[in-house]
Amino acid sequence: MSFTEKWKFLTYGTNLEKCPIFLASSNGKKIPLLKTLLSNSCINNCLFCPYRNERRITRTIWKKEELVNLTIKLTRAKKINGLFLSSGIIKDPILTSEKQIEIVEELRKLNYNNYIHLTLMPGIDIELMKRAVELANRVGINIEFPSQQYYDEVKLYLSFKQDVLKRLKLLSRIVEYYRKRGKKIDLVTQFIVGVKEESDKEILETTEYLYRKLNLKRVYYSAFEPIENTPLENKKPESKEREKRLYRASFLIRDYKLSYKDFEYDENGNLMYSDPKKSLKPEIKEKYNFNDLLKFEKFGIKRAFRLNNNYSLIKFLSTPS
Ligand code: SF4
Repeated sequence: MSFTEKWKFLTYGTNLEKCPIFLASSNGKKIPLLKTLLSNSCINNCLFCPYRNERRITRTIWKKEELVNLTIKLTRAKKINGLFLSSGIIKDPILTSEKQIEIVEELRKLNYNNYIHLTLMPGIDIELMKRAVELANRVGINIEFPSQQYYDEVKLYLSFKQDVLKRLKLLSRIVEYYRKRGKKIDLVTQFIVGVKEESDKEILETTEYLYRKLNLKRVYYSAFEPIENTPLENKKPESKEREKRLYRASFLIRDYKLSYKDFEYDENGNLMYSDPKKSLKPEIKEKYNFNDLLKFEKFGIKRAFRLNNNYSLIKFLSTPS
């Protein structure tokens, strides 16, 4: 297969003129990363996924030297400042993660000190997790859904508890171990939103757990888009508005230490307003003077605090409980 074809299949369908860039945020800076799969082959059959095993597409994989050279070349050309590497599960999660890590090892051997984000495979083993944390700047395993129920319905062969949650817990402990020894390393994950009837409340409850207990740096949300020739090709796409609403609510949970329980939800468990501050329970708004803050909502919450000259919430929230 030609390089151009490989590029198209592994970099989310882009062409050579358009570099597939993911902007990672690190210490207030945006870092452009080459976003690519190691392979678009997968043994699994998640119902929503363009790479599911039963979907007829051309399968391919980067050879180690191809991806290493490409990353270095694009970095030298100042198109990117690092690599974001994910993958389908080639034969098993261990083999796939080993191949991902070999690429990163090779880059580091060549003194490539730029930013590397590794999305690891559900089911990866602990030794590979450690190696990934040593080598990368950001690691994660995509959680996709808030509970086992949705795995049974959509992810089919994967266990939410064993393959994902248990691995994220272990990864969190490894990350913490390395952080304490001075390594700057972030742990992240991603939900896909709107595939089934999972509610904002369920997603935010799991988000709160991830931020509070596992110290994640960032939880991402991706609105579902139907893919042709998958079992969900006729399902309605999820709105980008919901994706934004979840981000806003999650930042209130992460940065202001609010709880998913502090919001009011409709009968389906979803937030009623695109600005989740409006969905806070009356007693929470009152307790933290949110009614005053809402007058300034167009400025965003941090600026509203400054304008309102009200630091009581920040003070309260920064006091250890
Ligand atoms: S394991 Fe990942 S790549 Fe494979 S089918 Fe499921 S979502 Fe797609």
